[in-house]
Amino acid sequence: MPRTLFEKIWQQHVIVDKGNEALLYIDRNLLHDGAFHAFGALAKEGRKVRKPRQSLATADHYVPTSGREKGLANVIDTDAREMIRLFDVNGAEHGIRCFGMNHPQQGIVHVIGPETGFTQPGITLTCGDSHTSTHGAMGAYAFGIGASQLKQVLATQCLWQRRPKTLRITVDGKLGAGVSGKDVVLAIIAKIGTAGGTGHVIEYAGSVFRAMAMEGRLTVCNMSIEAGARAGMIAPDDTTFQYLAGREYAPKGGQWDEALAMWRVLPTDDGAVFDHEVSLDGNAIEPTITWGTTPEEALPVSAVIPDPASFADANKRAHAESALRYMDLKPGTRLTDIEIDRVFIGTCTNGRLDDLRAAAAVLKGRKVTVQGWVSPGSTQVKRDAEAEGLHRIFEEAGLEWRASGCSGCAAMNGDFVPPGMRAASTSNRNFEGRQGKGARTHLMSPAMAAAAAITGRVTDVRKLMS
Ligand code: SF4
Repeated sequence: MPRTLFEKIWQQHVIVDKGNEALLYIDRNLLHDGAFHAFGALAKEGRKVRKPRQSLATADHYVPTSGREKGLANVIDTDAREMIRLFDVNGAEHGIRCFGMNHPQQGIVHVIGPETGFTQPGITLTCGDSHTSTHGAMGAYAFGIGASQLKQVLATQCLWQRRPKTLRITVDGKLGAGVSGKDVVLAIIAKIGTAGGTGHVIEYAGSVFRAMAMEGRLTVCNMSIEAGARAGMIAPDDTTFQYLAGREYAPKGGQWDEALAMWRVLPTDDGAVFDHEVSLDGNAIEPTITWGTTPEEALPVSAVIPDPASFADANKRAHAESALRYMDLKPGTRLTDIEIDRVFIGTCTNGRLDDLRAAAAVLKGRKVTVQGWVSPGSTQVKRDAEAEGLHRIFEEAGLEWRASGCSGCAAMNGDFVPPGMRAASTSNRNFEGRQGKGARTHLMSPAMAAAAAITGRVTDVRKLMS
């Protein structure tokens, strides 16, 4: 029987199948500085981490993005300080590799996995964070888990799971200039909705993804969870293998050849059947931004804000009315007439080197008119960006160049957008209060955020491109 990429990985990892659920072997697990609950639960039961070398940890959610060299004493919030301290203590006690606040490999958990080669095709990978779907871009089955499931993984390296359904989203065509993975995934979520992937693993297929660099694929899979999906995946190919080759935890020598032979047979077989199929025309995708308070409430930059009265679905109509009140926007307003107060470039969605290059290309030789900051996805990305001189472009334009962390994505580390202010953000969630109490978030690509920083309003980046 022809099988999908997901089915191949699932079947290879089932230990016990009870029909309605299966016990899966978990190859790798990622941890961040919010994982203290799971360690506390392990301690309560007197358990140890069963396979510490199969976990990797990094401090990202609570770490400050400025003044970090001053150490823990510089973290003013006592809860955040305690979590960062506990992170080091738990890692040392259980023998887990930990990239602490000032470690040279520190970064956002979903950036350091692929970056170090810890994330590989064909594996099962968990993390106590919903955006674990990111790692599916490497051809892994990667999904977020809660604190009690994280405890199970740490204690047993296994996890009971219901088998999800499969959804293939095919985007064929060629993306235009100024259109990136972020625009593609926002266009997808605008089409299928925030519940469109519920109960499914999405496989992204088609010429648009085949032509996309790893960074773009990671952005797309990152936001699968915003469509309600359990995971997002892209078949591994030469782009994946070239990205992985030589990375710290990638196989080497003869083991690389063996791994490559296994990875090459992972892609979905011709004739394999998905539970559902959706397709989009890649040629028609424009730079896309959100106007409301879910990633589904997104439109091409050339559009106007819709009138909720035109929505056939009563729940969506009510949500749009409430979103427009929160966002202080009126139906019929052109998206390009929306004024911006803050700009934030970074996160596990768009904090990789290619993302920073795209933003810097727009900012080069220009000045911003609003405050903003750039937080690279990892300390390695920061070093690489500085080696290329990107930090100077950001600083000369007037943006702050900060250290790596989740920063203003969830605003847990003190980096937030003030109440009532409107941010152009490269993050993945625009819920009410996500970037700070009363903050208004418009999700967009790094290039679009850079364009908004220059003009002070939502701007079609293609007009600023030579
Ligand atoms: S950058 Fe945002 S979405 Fe990503 S792991 Fe951090 S808080 Fe979560």
